[in-house]
Amino acid sequence: MTRLKIAIQKSGRLSDQSLELLENCGIQFARSKDKLFWYGRNLPVDLLLIRDDDIPRLLLDGVCDLGICGENVARECLLDRQRSEAELTPEVALGFGFCRLCLALPETVSFDAVSSLDGRRIATSYPALTQEYLRKHAVSAEIVELSGAVEIAPSMGTADAIVDLVSTGTTLRANQLREVALVMESQAVLYSGTRRLDDEAGKLRALLIKRIVGILQARDSKYVMMHAPKAAVDAIADILPGAESPTVLSLEGQPDKVAVHMLCTETVFWEHLEELKAMGATAILVLPVEKMLT
Ligand code: ATP
Ligand code: ZN
Repeated sequence: MTRLKIAIQKSGRLSDQSLELLENCGIQFARSKDKLFWYGRNLPVDLLLIRDDDIPRLLLDGVCDLGICGENVARECLLDRQRSEAELTPEVALGFGFCRLCLALPETVSFDAVSSLDGRRIATSYPALTQEYLRKHAVSAEIVELSGAVEIAPSMGTADAIVDLVSTGTTLRANQLREVALVMESQAVLYSGTRRLDDEAGKLRALLIKRIVGILQARDSKYVMMHAPKAAVDAIADILPGAESPTVLSLEGQPDKVAVHMLCTETVFWEHLEELKAMGATAILVLPVEKMLT
């Protein structure tokens, strides 16, 4: 049987959460300190630890079967290699690594429209995404490709503007830059590659994808239990977000009250609990869900 090859970022913003997700799927890796390759001990899976920029390429070339990287990196690679989006299948948006690719200018420079960049120099590590953005806005500017420290290009005099990743905006402010337009939003995504898999490896890939979806669902889900007036059960199920049909149990010696148990698949806030209380619910418990398979 073919061993499934999964690629994640070796060291960076996505590394820890990517690894944690795979380990939560039940894969145990024989870790080796500096190797790029970890062997799956209990499942036929091999882990490749590489630079995030290499992940989409390896998926497209059929070297890896699954990979986790930012949408920014995946789209840049598809555009750069002029490959169709269908060749890199997004399986699951993972809910971490949120950031946005932005156009930013020195704070002292006024900005009306993207067209004011005509004939200017834009520094970026994302030349293909930047080029596509400029083309969409019918702007022709010179792209200065840099592999890092893009944010210092304007003060160094090597560019008039930058297109760079931003999450909080602190780095931009520290460099006297301001965000003026959004190029794309991004988060970490699990992608499938193009390598043809034999039956068993294909099944294992599908199983791991299912488990990852389950992990993400369980993260948001809560099991909510309470005592409530019998008459309020329907209204209670309406209040809780993503609640499935409730389990209703009778309470010894309390004919008007019942115990209500519900799985809520979306975030339960304090406000929800306060509303339940106002409807006569008591002994409200919210429990975490460890695993979930639907
Ligand atoms: P590598 O050595 O793997 O190439 P890198 O320096 O390109 O590392 P990181 O800075 O670790 O990569 O970022 C990896 C990914 O994390 C980005 O491609 C992006 O999807 C996401 N990300 C989230 N927030 C930010 C941010 N504020 N700045 C940069 N990337 C971010
Ligand atoms: Zn990178």
